[in-house]
Amino acid sequence: MAKYKDMGIVVAIDGPSGVGKTTVARLVADKLGLKAVSTGALYRALALYLLKTGVNPANDMALDVALRNVELDQQYIDGRIRTFLNGEDVTEEIESVEVGAMASKIAAIPKVREFLLDVQRRLAEGGAVVEGRDIGTVVLPEANVKVFLDASTGERARRRYEQLRAEGMNISYEQALEDIRRRDFRDASRDVAPLRRAPDAIYIDTTHMTAEEVANRITKLVKELIP
Ligand code: C5P
Repeated sequence: MAKYKDMGIVVAIDGPSGVGKTTVARLVADKLGLKAVSTGALYRALALYLLKTGVNPANDMALDVALRNVELDQQYIDGRIRTFLNGEDVTEEIESVEVGAMASKIAAIPKVREFLLDVQRRLAEGGAVVEGRDIGTVVLPEANVKVFLDASTGERARRRYEQLRAEGMNISYEQALEDIRRRDFRDASRDVAPLRRAPDAIYIDTTHMTAEEVANRITKLVKELIP
């Protein structure tokens, strides 16, 4: 089990919003004895900081100051990804739709992506299952295994809806769908690092699969590629 960790194996999982990347990354990490890293949570934690401090990310100077004052960290504890903003655990707080919308907005700013690049690479050190949008293309192009997860828009909205309801958030299916559509549009149409699949990433349409099935498929792939 410790083999993949000892080898420092990196598995990159990319895909659109609501496809289940975080759930799958955790399952794969546990099956392979690696840690899971959610890069979306880092974008969200930075977004939370900007919302809390009232910094307008379009204000270049204010953004510079904010980035100098932000320290982000993530830990994989008991099969859960915990995200820390300046030492404070913000794992639950960053799940809101408001924070997600701000995260999607700031993700189009090159300076933000550059800032998070170092954090993401540091977290992947020593082996990890890393999920995001540009892991296989930009953040960790040397990843040992790359996967691109996809699912229909309706199914992704349903998954997001179920997840937020389970976390006690009051949201309707229509709101979840609207949120997914808006973020899809923003993530695919931005000039900086638009969501796209790495040519060497394995494409998996998960529309009719459970998270466990997807994780088993990826785990099998890793074991085949790195016996
Ligand atoms: O994955 P999650 O929905 O939590 O990510 C929040 C937002 O952060 C996404 O809508 C996306 O715009 C952005 N993001 C990104 N690159 C990543 C991870 C997330 O642009 N690697």
